[in-house]
Amino acid sequence: MMAWVHAAVGAALGRLIGHPTKAFGAGVASHAICDLIPHRDLKPIQEAPLLALALGLIVWRKGLTSPETLGAIGAVSPDTENIAMHLGVIPKKAMIFPTHQGPHTHGRTVKSIAPQVALAAVCLVVALWPRRET
Ligand SMILES: [Zn+2]
Repeated sequence: MMAWVHAAVGAALGRLIGHPTKAFGAGVASHAICDLIPHRDLKPIQEAPLLALALGLIVWRKGLTSPETLGAIGAVSPDTENIAMHLGVIPKKAMIFPTHQGPHTHGRTVKSIAPQVALAAVCLVVALWPRRET
């Protein structure tokens, strides 16, 4: 799944969980589930600005140590090994995250990115909706 979509899902989980450490863990777990869903990844050069935009928006609206931000960081963190592999720092066989270890552990590829964009939009609305003051 696209990295910025992982971030959006993690941020929404963070909002629903409401605790930074638990949100980080839930974000990491969500990465595996989201990778299993049929999806289409973009090229790293396309993904990087989208991820920066999503994380920047979440940090700007919710703060660096918020559950939303920690959930997003947890959800994106498994892809650091993907980045290292794409940069040639590690070989593909050295990746350890379960859904990065081969074609049978990753969701099949689909043509459209529309379902991912819709999922991310819903998750960002959940994550960024203003909290009711009490
Ligand atoms: Zn992944």
